[in-house]
Amino acid sequence: MADNKTVVILGGSLGGLHVAHALLKKHQQYPNLRNTHFYWNIASVRAIIPGQIPDQKMLRELSEALQPYPSNMYELVIGEAISSDFTAKTVKVQLSNSAADAQTREIVYDHLVLATGARYTNDTPWKANSDYQSLIKLLHETASRVEKADHIIVAGAGATGVEVAGELGYEYGKTKTITLLASGQHVLPGEQESLSTATENELKKLNVTVQKGARVKDVARSADDKYTIQLENGQNLECNLYLPTQGMVPNSDYVDTKHLDPKTKTVLVDEFLHVTGVPGNNVWAVGDIVSKPRAGFMITQKQASSVAKNVELSLLQSKEPVPAKGPPVDILACAVGRGRGVGRMGSIRLPSFGVWLAKGRTLGMQLVDQYISGSIA
Ligand SMILES: Cc1cc2nc3c(=O)[nH]c(=O)nc-3n(C[C@H](O)[C@H](O)[C@H](O)COP(=O)(O)OP(=O)(O)OC[C@H]3O[C@@H](n4cnc5c(N)ncnc54)[C@H](O)[C@@H]3O)c2cc1C
Repeated sequence: MADNKTVVILGGSLGGLHVAHALLKKHQQYPNLRNTHFYWNIASVRAIIPGQIPDQKMLRELSEALQPYPSNMYELVIGEAISSDFTAKTVKVQLSNSAADAQTREIVYDHLVLATGARYTNDTPWKANSDYQSLIKLLHETASRVEKADHIIVAGAGATGVEVAGELGYEYGKTKTITLLASGQHVLPGEQESLSTATENELKKLNVTVQKGARVKDVARSADDKYTIQLENGQNLECNLYLPTQGMVPNSDYVDTKHLDPKTKTVLVDEFLHVTGVPGNNVWAVGDIVSKPRAGFMITQKQASSVAKNVELSLLQSKEPVPAKGPPVDILACAVGRGRGVGRMGSIRLPSFGVWLAKGRTLGMQLVDQYISGSIA
C-alpha cells in the first residue's frame, strides 16, 4: 500500500520542494535533505546590493513549508547526500544537525527523486551551496565588499552575469567602475545577436563597460583585497572585487558515474525523467541536476510536476508513467537593473517594460510565498 512507501527527495530547493508539496498533498511520505531553508537564489543578484532585500525574504525555513502536513507523513532530514546505491535502494546522508559531524544515516527508499541542482564552483551566493549560516554570511560579506569596492569586475556574460552587472550598474554606475567580461564577442551567448546587442545597450545606459573576448585564465587576490585577473589574451586587469558567474556544475557527486553524462556530469534521464539504467525505474531527476533542455526554473517546475505525477501514478495506482512535458514556450527574461530588462518568448523579443514588469520589478520574490505554502505545486 502507498501508505507504507517512502519517497526520498534529495534537495530542498525549487525542484525538491515542489515535488514534496505535490506528493504530500496526495498523502505520500518522504524525507528531504541538506538545507534548513528554502533559498530564492533568483534574487541573489539584487541581494548583494546592501539594503535591497532582507535575509528573511531570501531565505525561508523548510519546516515552515512542511508544517501544515501531519508530522507522521514526512521527515525533514538535514544533511548532504554523499552516496547512493540504486540497486539496494539506499542513500547515505552526512547529517548536519548532529553533534558528531561525522554521523551518517542510511535511508531506504521506494522511490528516489534527485533534485540537488547545480552549484557555482566559486565563493558566490548565486546558489545555495552551503548551510543557512554560511549562506547568510556569504551574502552579507559580498554585500559589504560590494559597498566598499570602487572597481568591480563581473566575469561571465550569461544571464546571471548580465543581471549582476545590471544591478551593480543601476545602484553604482555613476560612482563605481563596473566591468562585465564576456569570453566571446557577445553577451548572452547562444541568443540572437539582436538580443545581445539590446542587452549591451541596456548595460551601457547603466555605465557598465562590457569587455569582449575576455576569457579569464587566472585570478590572484592579494592580502589587501586587490585582484589581478589574467585573461587568456594576455591582458591583466585589476579591481577590488571580482564576482565570477561562470562555471556551474551539477551536484551529482553522490550518483554512480554510469548514470551521468561523462562530459557535463548531469544525470541522464529518459522522456519520463527516470534516471536511465536503474533497475525498477524508481529513481527520478528534476531541475538543474538534469539541465535539459537547459537549466531554468520554469523547466524545473514542469519537471517537478511531471515527476510528482509519475511517482503518484506508480505508487497509488500502479500505472505506467506519462512523458514529461516542458513549458509550452521557452522564455528568457533577464533583468538589467531595477528599471529595465531584455528577453524573448520563443524567438519573439519582449519589450524592456514587459520584462521589468514580469521579472525585474520583483525578481520573482512573490513566488516565495507560493513555494512555502505549496500553492505552486
Ligand atoms: C542568479 C540566478 C538567476 C536565475 N534566474 C532565472 C530566471 O529568471 N528564470 C529561470 O527560468 N531560471 C533562472 N535561474 C535558474 C534557476 O535558479 C534554476 O533553474 C533552479 O534554481 C533549479 O532548481 P533546482 O531545485 O533544480 O536546483 P537548485 O536551485 O540548484 O537547488 C538544489 C538544492 O539541493 C541542495 N543540494 C545540493 N547538493 C546536495 C546533496 N548532495 N544532498 C542534499 N542536498 C543537496 C542545494 O543546497 C540546494 O538547496 C537563475 C539562476 C541564477 C543563479
